[in-house]
Amino acid sequence: MKENVIILRYGELHLKGNNRAFFENALLKNIKQSLKDFSFELKKISGRYVISNYNENDYNLIIEKLKKIFGLVSVSPAFELSTDKEEIITKCMEIAKELTGSFRISTKRADKKFPVKSDEFSAFIGEIFLNANSNLKVDLHNPDTNIIIEIRENGKTYILTKIIYAHGGMPVGTAGKGLLMLSGGIDSPVAGYMMAKRGLSLNAIHFHSFPYTSLQAKEKVLKLKDILEDYTSKIKLFVVPFTKIQEAIHINCYEEYMITIMRRIMLRIAERVAKKYNCGTIITGESLGQVASQTLESITVTNSVVENLPIFRPLIGMDKSEIMKISNEIGTYETSILPYEDCCTVFLPKNPVIKPTIKKAQVEEGKINLDYLIDEAINNIEIIE
Ligand code: ATP
Ligand code: MG
Repeated sequence: MKENVIILRYGELHLKGNNRAFFENALLKNIKQSLKDFSFELKKISGRYVISNYNENDYNLIIEKLKKIFGLVSVSPAFELSTDKEEIITKCMEIAKELTGSFRISTKRADKKFPVKSDEFSAFIGEIFLNANSNLKVDLHNPDTNIIIEIRENGKTYILTKIIYAHGGMPVGTAGKGLLMLSGGIDSPVAGYMMAKRGLSLNAIHFHSFPYTSLQAKEKVLKLKDILEDYTSKIKLFVVPFTKIQEAIHINCYEEYMITIMRRIMLRIAERVAKKYNCGTIITGESLGQVASQTLESITVTNSVVENLPIFRPLIGMDKSEIMKISNEIGTYETSILPYEDCCTVFLPKNPVIKPTIKKAQVEEGKINLDYLIDEAINNIEIIE
């Protein structure tokens, strides 16, 4: 015996007053996009969606997809019945026969036209269960199975026994678009996930120093983009050739400032790409104090080159272990730890400066042909859709 529908619950959307329709439509569009390979029907009942008429073999895949749609709080397989006492009783007897251990019945009567009060109805249905299966026992406090009976305004009653939690958040696209600085490491994919969860759709930019960094390093970034796309809409990836810039810095600039200058140039390029492609923010995976380039002084010096876009750093206050935990949960960890080098590890200085100043960074940058190198890198960007 298998449930015939899936109930989808969404949460924070309720808070949005007049904008609610906007958020609901975005969520609906994202659900349809995510399930585009499956056949199903979808209807809206008050504050929920109900998916029906799907192929039973697709059930597990559909649940996995739904769990990754931001804006959904939880989903439940359920039996959908007409709000008809006989029909409900018959179904409850069937469910009772397959049940073991202890249970409780929780009735939620949204339809006040239904003549029996919630508690009374729970007690009544509890009796039906006990009569149908004498091995069962009632436990109101810590039951093995909590059987929820929802009597809704649309003339339907839903019976469900489990709640599968999704990630919550806001539908992707409702907060605008951000440009994620995506390295092959652990942190930046997590940063992208966290901002998508707040409703940003994503583009990504990756700096690549072929042949110092290998083609596998680029493949790894493509794989990370792929995994993130389970949570977001399609991510446009900009791959920026960074070799000449790194060589120029390596030859001309004071070694200790190498990473500082690299970061400043990356951000300048990211800002130009962001503006061209309508991204309202740049997102990085920085975490305060994690490495020399992420001290308050370093962040001040790199941040200062971005003129009028906010930079979002959702991991700034997190420990590495917390970031790794999320990375594991969202499925990027195994790819992130593959051993291919990042461009930041090429020509790595022995003692990177921990407290750089803007003034010294500017002096070092004066030693290379900054504008020319940046233009050239931007002109040679490879766009991967
Ligand atoms: P990650 O795990 O994301 O690589 P990290 O702890 O290794 O981060 P850094 O290498 O100092 O830290 O990078 C800080 C941030 O700069 C990254 O989170 C990412 O947003 C950005 N970044 C670093 N390298 C690149 C790159 N090659 N391409 C694009 N962005 C990068
Ligand atoms: Mg890195």
